[in-house]
Amino acid sequence: MQDGLGRTVNYMRISVTDRCNLRCLYCASHPTPFIPHPDILRYEEILSLLGLARGLGVAKIRFTGGEPFARRGFPGFLETVRDLYPDLDLRLTTNGTLIGPHIPLLVRSGIKRVNISLDTLDAATFLRITGQDLFAEVRSAIDQCLTARLKVKMNVVAMKGVNDQELPAFLDLARTHPLDLRFIEYMPIGGSSRWTPWSVWPAGDILEAAQKLATLTPVESRAGDRGPARVYAIENGLGRLGLITPLSSHFCATCNRLRLTAQGNLRTCLFSDREYRLRPLLRHPKLGLSAVERVIRLAGMKKPLGFRLLEERKGAEPVCQTEMSAIGG
Ligand code: SAM
Repeated sequence: MQDGLGRTVNYMRISVTDRCNLRCLYCASHPTPFIPHPDILRYEEILSLLGLARGLGVAKIRFTGGEPFARRGFPGFLETVRDLYPDLDLRLTTNGTLIGPHIPLLVRSGIKRVNISLDTLDAATFLRITGQDLFAEVRSAIDQCLTARLKVKMNVVAMKGVNDQELPAFLDLARTHPLDLRFIEYMPIGGSSRWTPWSVWPAGDILEAAQKLATLTPVESRAGDRGPARVYAIENGLGRLGLITPLSSHFCATCNRLRLTAQGNLRTCLFSDREYRLRPLLRHPKLGLSAVERVIRLAGMKKPLGFRLLEERKGAEPVCQTEMSAIGG
C-alpha cells in the first residue's frame, strides 16, 4: 500500500494490550485508566485484521503493548498467527520480564527476532526506572534468547542523568554478546510525560562518547532489514551499536508503518493523536472487513510527516497526549 506521500506502507505494529507489569518513568509513570476488557480487540479480531493487512501488502508485524506477555494466551496466539500466516515476518517487543518460559514456543513458532527493552545494567537504577525489582529476570531473558539463537535487539531509552553514566558498561555488553544494543532518543510522548529538553541524551553525543571507548564502523543495512537505526560494528565485538534518532534526525521520509492500539484504533504516526476507530466497524453486523479496508486506505492517504508535528509543538510540550504504553511502542 502506498500512502499519500508515496511511501510504501508494509509494516504494522500491533499492541495486544495496554497493560504492563512495569511503570517506566518515561512511558507510564502516572496511573491512567486501563481500557475495559470488552473494548480490547479479541485475538480472533486481530487475526482478521492481520489477514486484511497482509492483503494490503503488510509483510512485517511487530506485536507490542503494554507488555504483550501480560495478556493471557499471548504465546498460543503467536502459534495461531504463525499457522495461519506462515509468510508474515513476525517480531516482538517486550520488557523481557515474562518471556523466559515461552522462549522454546517462540522458537517453535518461527519467531527469529525479539526486541527487549532494558535501559540500565544496574539493578537499583532498574528499580528506579521501572518501579519493579526485576533486573535479574530481564538480564537472564536476554541470555536465554541468545542461547536459543534468537536475534536480540536491546532497546535503551537514552536519558541524561539516568543512564548516561553507563555507556562503558553498555558497550562492554555489546562487545561480549552477539546482540544489537540500540539507544533510542527519549521522545516527548504522553500527556503526563516527565520529558524535558534536558533529559534527552542526543544520539550525536552518544556516538561521540562511544567512539572514545571503541572503534566503530558504520554498517550498511541489508535490503529487507532496513530499520530506523544507524548501526555500527564494534571492533573485536560480538554485538553492534545502533542509534535511533527520532528527534535529532528524523526518518519520516521512509516511514513504512502503521500502528494498531489494543482497542483497535489505527494510528498512522507515532507523533499524531489522530486515530481511526476500526473496532466498531469490525464488530458491526453489516460493515465488517470491507469498511475496515476502506478506512485503512483512507488513513494511509493521510499519513503525516511526524517531524512537522514535533516542530509545531512548544517547549517541553508532549507531541501527543496518549501514553506510549497505550499507543504500543
Ligand atoms: N512492554 C514492551 C517493552 O517494554 O518493550 C513493549 C511496549 S514499550 C511502550 C515499547 C518501547 O517503547 C520500549 O522499547 C520503550 O523503551 C519505548 N518507549 C516508551 N516510551 C518512550 C519514550 N518516551 N521515548 C522513547 N522510547 C520510549
